[in-house]
Amino acid sequence: MQVTKRVSRLLFSAAFLTVMAGCGNNNNLNLNEQAAQETTAPSTAHQTHWSYEGDTSPEHWAELDQLFATCNTGTAQSPVNILHDKVQADEHLSPVKVEYSPSPVSIVNNGHTIQVNINNKDNKLTIEGKTYLLQQLHFHLPSEHEVDGKHAEMELHLVHKSKDGSLAVLGVLINAGSENTALNQLWSVLPAEESAEEIVIDGAFDPAGLLPADLHSFRYQGSLTTPPCTEGVQWIVLENPVTWSAEQIGQFAAIFPHDNRPVQPLGSREIGSDE
Ligand SMILES: [Zn+2]
Repeated sequence: MQVTKRVSRLLFSAAFLTVMAGCGNNNNLNLNEQAAQETTAPSTAHQTHWSYEGDTSPEHWAELDQLFATCNTGTAQSPVNILHDKVQADEHLSPVKVEYSPSPVSIVNNGHTIQVNINNKDNKLTIEGKTYLLQQLHFHLPSEHEVDGKHAEMELHLVHKSKDGSLAVLGVLINAGSENTALNQLWSVLPAEESAEEIVIDGAFDPAGLLPADLHSFRYQGSLTTPPCTEGVQWIVLENPVTWSAEQIGQFAAIFPHDNRPVQPLGSREIGSDE
């Protein structure tokens, strides 16, 4: 019943308070948003409600709040469709260097996705000599990026930030197959309902357990895939997917049946690869 009540309240808010309604848990931002706020926007007294359905779905995001205008007017938006034939091998791109280690983490259902916050500064990603620290990771279903016009079943985003505040997101495509045993540590406490409260995971969690062995990647300049759709994000989409069991994917789908932004025009951008 609590879920039903919350949904009713949100529908009421959206319908009668126009776009100024809160998402229910104002302190409970997707870290994409947190990162964007830290780098581009002052904190606001309320958070505009947005979603993947109905009147607040992706095609309406820019109308919901002037802070979301870039979702419509931007020219370097994410996600995109990655066409293998048009990817340019680029010798100037360094291999992706990931230095992750077992870390204290907490997990939260923020109403848009399941997010895992990394509670230390020990997880590094380095490309082209620039180092970024892992802030959080979260999931989309189906994948946000397409490869040759096809979605993977899900996509993992690992959001990193450099000292100068710039963002690099590592995207990992997820298909059904063998179980990912590292995921069980998180999924054993998977929060089914939206809440401002983070659940602290017992022991340490190693984000490296969610990556494929081969880190060859597609690279391009894009944006956050959630409002405010801020541009200037370095995207690194791994060429090799990982597998989760159908049950592991099903557990997420039971909470978020779909939470992906559709692909955006590539425009004049090029997608490179580090091989
Ligand atoms: Zn994401």
